[in-house]
Amino acid sequence: MPNSQPDYLSTRHYGTYALITLVMVAAMLAWHAWKSTGNFREYHQQLAVTSVTGAADELEFLLSELQRSMRVFANDKRSLLEEVASDPDNDAIWARLESTVQGHFPEYYGLTLTNRSGDVMRPDFDNEVDELCQRDIHTFIEDGYSQQGYIHPNPMGYHFDVMVPWGDADNPQGVFFLSFPPDILARVLKRIQSPGHALLLLRTDEVDLIEVSGEGTRTELQRDFTLSSDELARILYSRNIPNSRWDLVDLPDEQLFRSEALRNAGYAAVVFCTFAAVGLLMLQQLSRKEQRRLQAEEQALQHQADLAHVDRINIMGEMASGLAHELNQPLSAISTYCQAGLRIIDSFNDKPAKLVHALEQASMQSQRAGEIIRRIRRFTGKGMVRRKPIDINRVIHNAVSYIDTEQKRKGVKLVLELADGLPAAIADEIHIEQVILNLLHNAIEAMFSGSDNTRILRVSSKLASADTLQVTVNDTGPGLDAAMHNSIFDTFYTTKKNGMGLGLAISRSIIEAHGGQLWADPGAGAGATFHFTLSVAAA
Ligand code: ADP
Repeated sequence: MPNSQPDYLSTRHYGTYALITLVMVAAMLAWHAWKSTGNFREYHQQLAVTSVTGAADELEFLLSELQRSMRVFANDKRSLLEEVASDPDNDAIWARLESTVQGHFPEYYGLTLTNRSGDVMRPDFDNEVDELCQRDIHTFIEDGYSQQGYIHPNPMGYHFDVMVPWGDADNPQGVFFLSFPPDILARVLKRIQSPGHALLLLRTDEVDLIEVSGEGTRTELQRDFTLSSDELARILYSRNIPNSRWDLVDLPDEQLFRSEALRNAGYAAVVFCTFAAVGLLMLQQLSRKEQRRLQAEEQALQHQADLAHVDRINIMGEMASGLAHELNQPLSAISTYCQAGLRIIDSFNDKPAKLVHALEQASMQSQRAGEIIRRIRRFTGKGMVRRKPIDINRVIHNAVSYIDTEQKRKGVKLVLELADGLPAAIADEIHIEQVILNLLHNAIEAMFSGSDNTRILRVSSKLASADTLQVTVNDTGPGLDAAMHNSIFDTFYTTKKNGMGLGLAISRSIIEAHGGQLWADPGAGAGATFHFTLSVAAA
């Protein structure tokens, strides 16, 4: 019986390997997802640095450019400013100033002019320059005409101021002051900020207070003016804008990294599931294939075991048969001699009773011995044959597969000439395979006993008559001389050193038990040819 332990282990190993592979793939995918999320974060961190730097530079340039052009304006239009300063309540002159400023600074929001001490020359200016601004003007002068821009409200709305001195450079006559709407700044932020990010201007003195975003100033904000602690923690990059009270920060969307992490995890999960499904499918296929292989192996082993068993039984049967044949004569002679002895004693007047008894017993025991041998022969003989329809070509292929390695190793050329479409033979497959194997082994051994190096083993099958199939095994060995041809089927006839002389005798018994014939063609030198016939199975 085949040992199933290694097969069980190998099937289980497939599962273990698959599990290890799955764990490794899961680990790799998790690492890949984690790495991709990290790369995404790093990329957006870089993006934040680039946009904050770019926007901060542009805002700084915008502020300094406003200051520079206001200085140029104050210089170029000094006479107009002096005219206003000499008669601040003159509406006509003021209107001229307003329209000139409008021409140069179309987006300006409010304007004023002050004297050296920072007092506005036209009170209140229609509420466009409020007290806060006036305080800033004084601070501007006190700080030596340097300004920290910021946005602040007045009754008309949020704005930021830009101030420059006017008059002589070394002896300014006051401050030329313009207010601008924060939209100018918002436009820069909106243009530069990356998708998924918000650029925000925060107050340096109130870090959580938003001054301007891409949406505009606080009146336009669709959210709280202040940043939550969570948002403050999320800020990717921050930079101060020189000459202002602003920090420019990049705040990514709350969902930006979370959705990327989820997307990567989802992608990894999909890849893993696909891999696992394909792997499981392959494993299933592999295990089915393995099962089929094991089954085939088991069948082959069983077949070999059956062949060996039949071989042993056949050898026993043939030996018993041979013994019976050989012993039959001496046993009959013993019995005859005993009977003759009894008849001689019968003519004596005084019969020795003990001798009569002994001779009777000897005769009886010799008959009994003959009966025992006949019984053994019957028991090991034809009773094992189980006949059913078989495909003779398939049986030939099976038998040939057993000598395949030996034949190739020894350089024997095998030629199969099997007729197509043969009807099924009625026979015991194992016994017939045993006969073919015997013939094949004998042929190979014979081809190596002579000096001829041409070694061709030819096996053919054909329909010999309507109800008989014929199989022929032919070799290029020394063939059979007349003496051998007469004896080779005798029990115990062998010309080999280790031969038993049973193979051909058994084969003939088997074929005859099937109602067929096994014979060899006579002739030495031209190789040996053996034929056997089997009956075709009834339709
Ligand atoms: P064993 O193989 O044990 O000798 P067999 O009954 O199979 O017993 O064969 C008996 C003898 O027949 C062999 O010893 C051999 O001399 C002869 N013989 C069988 N087959 C061939 C063959 N193909 N060519 C030549 N001689 C053969």
